[in-house]
Amino acid sequence: MTSHVEQQIQARITAAKNKRQQQREDRAAFAESRAAGLEARKRTKIRRVFCGQCARPQRSGTYQRCPLGCGTALCRKRASCGNDHLAQCPNRGAVPSLPEEGQ
Ligand SMILES: [Zn+2]
Ligand SMILES: [Zn+2]
Repeated sequence: MTSHVEQQIQARITAAKNKRQQQREDRAAFAESRAAGLEARKRTKIRRVFCGQCARPQRSGTYQRCPLGCGTALCRKRASCGNDHLAQCPNRGAVPSLPEEGQ
């Protein structure tokens, strides 16, 4: 026959077990959401685009890719960014109509 005290001890042990299980689940859920957040941050960082000339951060619509096809992002707003890049672009030799500078 189990005494009143033994029943109380048993109840306390069960409560502690449940609490540990709950903490374990909370930790797992937290780790999962943290990993998802880190992944999302990384994706955003990779997606971020900067002008190849002035290094200002760009958003969709504020930049264009180099017309010579080297893939560099250039401000749309500042004509000087595009002009400077076209003079220095590694692909500029492929287009004969562009003026060659510094020769
Ligand atoms: Zn720029
Ligand atoms: Zn280019």
